Amino acid sequence: MQIKRLRLSGFKSFVEPADLRIEPGLTGVVGPNGCGKSNLLEALRWAMGENSPKSMRGSGMEDVIFAGTGSRPQRDFAEVSILAEDVGDADEVEIVRRIERGAGSAYRINGRDVRAKDVALLFADAATGAHSPALVSQGRISAVISAKPAERRQMLEEAAGIAGLHVRRKDAEQRLRATEANLARLDEVISDQD
Ligand code: ATP
Repeated sequence: MQIKRLRLSGFKSFVEPADLRIEPGLTGVVGPNGCGKSNLLEALRWAMGENSPKSMRGSGMEDVIFAGTGSRPQRDFAEVSILAEDVGDADEVEIVRRIERGAGSAYRINGRDVRAKDVALLFADAATGAHSPALVSQGRISAVISAKPAERRQMLEEAAGIAGLHVRRKDAEQRLRATEANLARLDEVISDQD
C-alpha cells in the first residue's frame, strides 16, 4: 500500500480543508513548534481507526474537531481522507473518517459506509494501521526499547502483516460458539419431540 494523499478538514488545528501529497520515498514534515506537525500524524492514525485518547492527545472523541480560537468559531465536524494505491486488487482506495459533534464518527471506503472493523482489516492486511511501527511519533523509540515481550511481538506481527488474521480468528471463534449454541438448542428441540 502506498498512501498518496492525506486530506484534512476541521481536524484539530487544520480548520480549512488541506491536502498533503505524499510522494514515494521518505516524507519529512518541518515547521515551527505548534504549527501542526504532530496533528498530521494524528490525522493519519485517526482515519486508520485510532480511538485511544492517549495516542490522540485529547480526552474525548470530539477533541479532534477544531475547537475554535479567539477569532474563529469552532467547527461541527472533522473529516480526514486517505487516498492510497496498491491496496489488494484495487488500484486506488479512499478511506474517509468523519466525526460530528453529538453524532459520533463514521467511516467510508470509496464512498460506501463501512464498519470500523472493515477499515482496521484493510490496513492490517496491508501490514500497516494506526499502531504501525512505520508511524514514528515523539517518545515512540523509547517505548519500543522498554516494551514488554508481548507488546514487541504485537509490533512484529503488525510489521509482518498477520495482525488481521487475529481479528478474523476472533470472528471465526465467535461464529463457532454461536453455531454450537444453535446445535445444542436444536438437540433440545429434537429430544422434546421424541
Ligand atoms: P511541536 O513541534 O511543538 O510538537 P507541532 O508542530 O507538532 O508542535 P502540533 O502538536 O501538531 O504541533 O499542533 C499543536 C497545535 O494544534 C496547538 O496550537 C493546538 O492548540 C492545536 N490544536 C490541537 N487540537 C486542536 C483543536 N481541537 N482545535 C484547534 N486547535 C487545536
